[in-house]
This record gives sequence, structure tokens and C-alpha cells, in this order.
Amino acid sequence: MTTRHKLVVGNWKMHGSHAANAELLQGILAARPFVAEVAVCVPFPYLSEVAVTLSNSSVAWGSQDCSAHVQGAYTGEVSATMLAEFGCRYAIVGHSERRAFHGESDQLVADKAKAALAKGITPIVCVGETLEQREAGETEAVVKRQLSAVIHALGQCIGEVVVAYEPVWAIGTGRTASPEQAQAVHAVLRAQLAAATPRASDMKLLYGGSVKPDNAAILFSQADIDGGLIGGAALKAADFVAVARAA
Ligand code: PGA
Repeated sequence: MTTRHKLVVGNWKMHGSHAANAELLQGILAARPFVAEVAVCVPFPYLSEVAVTLSNSSVAWGSQDCSAHVQGAYTGEVSATMLAEFGCRYAIVGHSERRAFHGESDQLVADKAKAALAKGITPIVCVGETLEQREAGETEAVVKRQLSAVIHALGQCIGEVVVAYEPVWAIGTGRTASPEQAQAVHAVLRAQLAAATPRASDMKLLYGGSVKPDNAAILFSQADIDGGLIGGAALKAADFVAVARAA
């Protein structure tokens, strides 16, 4: 049996300030060491200061998006090359908020994942169904379609990505997927990955959607759940540390 190392990633979304970030990071750093790998994905303007604060620590950092383009006339975009210059370790791509509010297609998400990997940044590829899709029995088809675009774009390199299953109805709602619901989808995703790469059993599949200190341990103990992508509970050091310790 493969023993995959757990990964817990904080997704700060559009939250933070110089002062709040410093306090949050000090709280996380003070709680080291963690058994799990711990990372924070922060808004672009704070990347360089977070990189400095976390340098020489075991806490990694990443961005919440990355352009599919290498460079050029793409106002507002940030390229993987730029992120890599700062030593960026992870880039979230295809978060449901970007798919919903910025019209990101499966193909664009796949292109972003490819652009990140090409610069040595590990994409955290998010997939997940809406409540409507779940109720229509489409969960499996939706997540497979989303992941399939990335598998197609990356070929064998798919083994290098992290996948995050985040049911849209569980994000920021306080309504988390049950451990059984989450595990069932993770098993589907791992099987899909196994058909594409021999490395599937070593890949990290994260669960995200209202993970909190009181439900993290049971979610993270499921066979195919290798950690979490944490939104709301990543904004308070005590909560994030408790979630990270549950992994
Ligand atoms: P949440 O967000 O933990 O606040 O539900 C998770 C996410 O969107 O990554």
C-alpha cells in the first residue's frame, strides 16, 4: 500500500492585509512542526512578502491562479514564469469561483495547469459539481469531464499535479460533504487517474469545502483523501493549525 504524505493548503481567496497576513503567518510558523506538508495560497500582491516571511521554513506558498499564457498583451494576468521567479511552489487552477465568476472553461483550466507545470510549479487542479448537478446525479460525469481535459492536456505529466475535489455546494456554506460522499468521488478520480498514469497511487487528492477543525480528521482519514484545500478556516491561525494537525 502506498503511504501518501498529507498536504494541507490554505486558500486565502481575496482576504488579507499586511497586518493580518503577518499575524496569520506568525501563528502558523509558531505551531511547527507539522506532520503534513502545509502551504498557503495568497493573493498576488502579497506573494513576495509571504515568500520572504516563509523562506527557510517548512511552510510552502503558492498563488490562487496562473495565466495560461507565457507573456504578452494580457492585461491583469500573471504568468507562471513570474511566479516561478519568486520560488512559487503551487498554483491553484480552476477553482469553482474562477470557473463561475470568470467563465473559465475546462480547456482554459487545463492550459493553466500546463503553463504552471512547465515552470516547475505544481498546479492544484480543482474540480467539483454544483448542487444542481449533484441532485441530477451528474457528479461523476462532471468531475470526470473536468479532470479529463487536464489529463488530455498534460499526458504523462498528469502524475505531477495535485487534484482538489471541491463540491461547489460545500464551499463557504458550512455544509461539508460527508466523509463517504467525499471518499466516493475521490475514488472515482483516482481510478480515472490510474487509467492515465502509473503514478496515480502516489498522487495527492485533496478535499475542499467547509473543512473545519471539527470535521478535518474524519475527512482526512478516508482512503483516497490526502489532505485538504481550506478556505474560511485558513484565515485564523488557530483554526488552520488545528486542521493541519488533523492531517
Ligand atoms: P471553504 O473554501 O473552506 O471556505 O469552504 C474552500 C475553497 O474554496 O477552497
